[in-house]
This record gives sequence, C-alpha cells and structure tokens, in this order.
Amino acid sequence: MNIEIMTLFPEMVMNGVNTSITGRAIKNGLLSVNATNIRDFSLSKHGQVDDYPYGGGAGMVMQPEPIDRCYQSIRERLGYDENGYKDGKRLPCIYMSPQGRTFTQSVAKELANKEDIVILCGHYEGVDQRILDMIVTDEISIGDYVLTGGELAAMVITDAVSRLVPGVLNNDDSAVYESFHSGLLEYPQYTRPAEYKGVKVPEVILSGDHKKVEEWRYIESLKRTKEKRPDLLKNREENDNAWEGSIKY
Ligand code: SAM
Repeated sequence: MNIEIMTLFPEMVMNGVNTSITGRAIKNGLLSVNATNIRDFSLSKHGQVDDYPYGGGAGMVMQPEPIDRCYQSIRERLGYDENGYKDGKRLPCIYMSPQGRTFTQSVAKELANKEDIVILCGHYEGVDQRILDMIVTDEISIGDYVLTGGELAAMVITDAVSRLVPGVLNNDDSAVYESFHSGLLEYPQYTRPAEYKGVKVPEVILSGDHKKVEEWRYIESLKRTKEKRPDLLKNREENDNAWEGSIKY
C-alpha cells in the first residue's frame, strides 16, 4: 500500500511515520509513505502558498494552484490518468478536515484495501473550496476539535491504516483481536509476573485451556464494552464477529 501526503511540513510527517512499527514496515517494503511539500509547487518567487480570504475575515487560506500542481505530479507519478483513474479505479484523495466524516476503525479497514491513497493536509484557515471540489474524493476528521494543521491527523490515519496491512504487525492476529475490530473493546491483558504486589492474574488465563481462555476473554470484552462504551453494543453488527466463541449474550 502506498500513502502520499501533501503537506507544508513533510519532515514532521516523515519523522513520525519513520519510527516504530510503521518505520519498520516502510523499511521492509510492506508500506510506502511519501510526504510532498506543497510549497515546492508554488509558482511565486517567495514560495507563497496562502493568501487573504475573499470577503474578509480572519487568517489566511491555502491557494488552489500549488495544491493542484502538487496533486497532479503525484497522480502522474502513480500512473493515474488526468481524471484520476487507473484500471477503472479513482485515486482516493482525502482532505483532513474537522468537517469530514469521523475516522473510525471501520474507515481504517476501508482505506487499508486501497492500493494508493493521497492525503491533503490543510493549514491556516483551510483550503480554497475550488481545489476541494476538483481533486478531493473524501473528507475525514479525527474528532470534534480543531487542530492547527492536518499533519497530526494524517499521521493518525497512516498509523491506524498501516497496521491493518498484512505483514505490518508481527502477528497479524493482533489486529483481529483488538478493540473495535469486532465491535467490542479488547479484554484485559496481563504479562509476567503472575503475581505483582500481591495481585494475581486471573487463574483461567494461566490454565492453558484455550477454549476457556477464549470464553473468558469474550465475556470480559462484553463487560468492558457495556461499562465503557455501551454505544458500541448498540451499533454492533452480529455478522462482524471475527472471533466469537459459542457464548452469546
Ligand atoms: N477553518 C477550518 C474550519 O473551521 O473548518 C479549520 C482549519 S484548521 C485551523 C487547519 C487545518 O487543520 C484544516 O484545514 C485541516 O486540514 C486540519 N484539521 C483541523 N482539525 C482537524 C480534525 N479534527 N481532523 C482532521 N483535520 C483537521
């Protein structure tokens, strides 16, 4: 999978994604992430990329031309035609925006199936509407708050999506058993020692009985979800339960 990020701060994005698990995936060729500096596509002598909003108001707005030129160069490099299509598929171009649909695990799953994704990071007061209308296929928000720029949001998406790419996690199962994957929060986790400051780990998970462990984890997941995120139980689709045992609630 290939993620292309259009930004005014490419080093910020690349420093983030080149560490830890995503960094290892990039090194191993399972994932490719490129950050392209929109400013490099400005035609102005001083690399201007923003201007005052028409009609007045606070702040600056990112101009359409540098973003358009940046996008067109990425699109061409990836082999998409001038309408943004390759093999009948449209190149996804996501604008990070507090006005977009909210990013969730199911959106992450949807994006993990794409071959290429372009992400546009806004700054200042945002981006000229015309460029959104011309190139953007989707707007995604990482939550109901306003960030100064789209870079952190792009890093969140890159991280969550890349760990769903087969081979990126050491054990692919860990993505399957995690919170949200089956519409439930993950069960409590324990590691050595078996007793810490007098508190023992639950006996069942030391038992070696895989069926019992699975049942215990399922019940704990349900309990936790009921307690912490009852809304998830309401939204949960019965046929999306990748790992349910025989117990039903
Ligand atoms: N004036 C814009 C508005 O009210 O919708 C907000 C602009 S914000 C200061 C600058 C940039 O940060 C946006 O263009 C967007 O790319 C990014 N951004 C801010 N909050 C975000 C969020 N919750 N999710 C994703 N991106 C966000």
